[in-house]
Amino acid sequence: MKLLIMGRPGAGKGTQAVNIREYYNIPHISTGDIFRANIKGQTKLGKEAKEYMDKGLLVPDSLTIDLVKDRLSQEDCQKGFLLDGFPRNLEQAKALDDFLKANNDSLDAVLDIDVKPEILIDRIVGRRVCPQCGATFHIKNNPSKVEGVCDVCGAKLIQRNDDTYATAENRLKVYDEQTAPLLDYYKNQHLLKTVNGDQDFAKVFEDIKKVLTK
Ligand code: ADP
Ligand code: AMP
Repeated sequence: MKLLIMGRPGAGKGTQAVNIREYYNIPHISTGDIFRANIKGQTKLGKEAKEYMDKGLLVPDSLTIDLVKDRLSQEDCQKGFLLDGFPRNLEQAKALDDFLKANNDSLDAVLDIDVKPEILIDRIVGRRVCPQCGATFHIKNNPSKVEGVCDVCGAKLIQRNDDTYATAENRLKVYDEQTAPLLDYYKNQHLLKTVNGDQDFAKVFEDIKKVLTK
């Protein structure tokens, strides 16, 4: 299973990626997670990426595309993968197509988790994440059992730097301008499978499984 998961910021990509990863036994590759790990590790890439991420802008393609190609070249991706947060513009999509073609490979499906922009600011600003194990919570929609503490590993939950009102609005704008055109790109390739993301967590996953087995 070689999959992309798309959707506006806050649509539930990371949340559903955990289910998909376990169900299909494929690695979940999130470019946002890779950048955040580099920021935490204070690498050169992390320092460069942070400047863009804190403003809600896309990290330049020159820092992003090769990183994904390297990751997809690793052994654990040969039988399948779930890419989350990449591609985010036409250049990245074309680079991915070229890379897969060069390896006699192709995508099986592109999932679009569709959620109207109106409710996304609330989802983004209420998101809390575990800096240790990556688990995601929401202060209202999916609270941790003990406030501020990760259910999975017990670490203290944090709010992402870019999960503020101002940055979230910018990220939604960047999505509309640069990422949304990819939906037509993949529709034309007959790969696009749209799921309503404005439903209960479990129902969204049920619908994902349905569209992927069609
Ligand atoms: P993305 O990876 O698309 O940015 P996340 O998976 O991190 O989005 O979800 C954003 C926030 O919305 C998180 O706090 C998550 O708990 C919450 N969330 C995800 N899916 C749903 C859903 N179906 N209903 C309500 N809240 C959700
Ligand atoms: P995400 O974790 O997917 O919400 O991404 C958080 C931030 O990381 C984005 O707002 C961008 O600044 C950056 N980012 C993640 N993936 C990409 C990508 N494919 N291209 C450019 N920037 C990215």
